[in-house]
Amino acid sequence: MTDDGFITTLLKPGDEAYDETRALWNGMIDKRPAAIAQCSTSADVIDAVNYARENGLRVTARGGGHGVAGNALNDGGLVVDLSAMKAIDVDAAAKTARAEPGVTLGELDAATQAHGLATPLGVVSQTGIAGLTLGGGIGWLRRKHGLSADNVISFELVTADGRHVTASDSENADLYWGLRGGGAGLGAVTSFEYRLHDLGPEVMFAFVLYPGERAHEILRFQEEFMSEAPDEVSPLSFLGRVPHADDFPAESHGTPYIALLALYAGDVAEGHRVLAPLRELGEPIADFSGSMPYTAAQTVLDADYPDGWFYYWKSANLERLDDEAIARLVAHNEAAPSHHSTVDVWYHGGAMGRVDREATAFGERPAYLIGVEANWEERADADANIAWARATVDDLAPFSTGGAYLNFPGLFEEGEQLKRASHGDRNYERLKALRRECDPRGLFAAS
Ligand SMILES: Cc1cc2nc3c(=O)[nH]c(=O)nc-3n(C[C@H](O)[C@H](O)[C@H](O)COP(=O)(O)OP(=O)(O)OC[C@H]3O[C@@H](n4cnc5c(N)ncnc54)[C@H](O)[C@@H]3O)c2cc1C
Repeated sequence: MTDDGFITTLLKPGDEAYDETRALWNGMIDKRPAAIAQCSTSADVIDAVNYARENGLRVTARGGGHGVAGNALNDGGLVVDLSAMKAIDVDAAAKTARAEPGVTLGELDAATQAHGLATPLGVVSQTGIAGLTLGGGIGWLRRKHGLSADNVISFELVTADGRHVTASDSENADLYWGLRGGGAGLGAVTSFEYRLHDLGPEVMFAFVLYPGERAHEILRFQEEFMSEAPDEVSPLSFLGRVPHADDFPAESHGTPYIALLALYAGDVAEGHRVLAPLRELGEPIADFSGSMPYTAAQTVLDADYPDGWFYYWKSANLERLDDEAIARLVAHNEAAPSHHSTVDVWYHGGAMGRVDREATAFGERPAYLIGVEANWEERADADANIAWARATVDDLAPFSTGGAYLNFPGLFEEGEQLKRASHGDRNYERLKALRRECDPRGLFAAS
């Protein structure tokens, strides 16, 4: 029991573990909460939320700590730290899994793949399921099985008044709607129950890099390829600069590339056949494609995102990828101040695209998502890298719907306008009304 009469560990400035506990993946974030409640059980979370309400502190929840904008923390409020809540319970017969909010993608994949099952998650295994799912969740299964949020059967959460409730189709259905893509601000989720699908354990994964001077032509080809591609194919292409690493020919180091990645969520031999055209576009810089365990495919990008580097990511939703838009993507990639930065093209549609825009709070489900990732190593380079990401996204404005993926949010400096466009007008109003209803005093900061 702490001095505050509190069962959970409550860290305050000056406590030994305070600084290490408030560190997030993104080195850009340096927030100083008044207290961090390290929770192990739902009862701890109830305690923490009640403590915050009684002491007039705003609350943010922390899951995997990989939110790009750093909204898991706050300045001067209480952080409900859920990162130690890591229980996973797979019901292989029912094809469901229940997972606590400290679980990472890699941990959930490992548990479900032990039964040849998976739920759609993101593409980097160290990130948390909590922020991912609450913000939507796009990954290698999105065209076959939808967003992570589309696969949640129920949530358990602690609301602003300290109640532990279930949100599902049949209980608190409004909350269930809002938690699927509506982001933070409706409560602290203590468990996610996911629908699972048969997958793998072996899958075919394409990962091939071509010289950047062919980027325009190859992105045009990708359009053609996608017009015929089955839902099993979920691709991601990105533009970047070849790392100075032994995996790549020395003469290519530092030069622009276009990478084509895609997972085939089905039979491995069929995956080889369907994805072959992506690998037959001429001499590649490197081709890492092949069949591999799904859990390995889920980690191919992990090494690109070390903890504590500096990150600023923005995005734009597009319904068409015009020649002029492609030309701008290519030019901005070549101008990036950091060799670690990328410009990404996510191809949506499939199962994800068929869900009604108002069925969940997520909102826009565009044909393309452009992600602009400024990733750099030295704090001093922040201004140039942030300016580059902003200029790239600004330059795409004529082609964009005005919406974006709110898990790739910059530091949320656009405020309401971007959120309204991304959720859609009616969803946005409904989400605001829902927040007012379940948290009239605004205890939980909305992301
Ligand atoms: C390296 C990297 C790769 C990524 N790749 C993808 C990808 O492939 N696809 C994709 O869709 N996204 C991707 N993302 C975005 C990622 O989904 C978000 O950053 C997500 O917020 C991370 O979740 P977290 O639990 O780790 O974050 P946290 O920083 O812990 O939380 C993020 C937000 O969610 C809130 N939150 C966290 N837990 C809870 C909870 N239990 N209850 C209520 N609110 C909560 C926080 O308050 C905060 O606002 C990636 C991010 C990174 C850093």
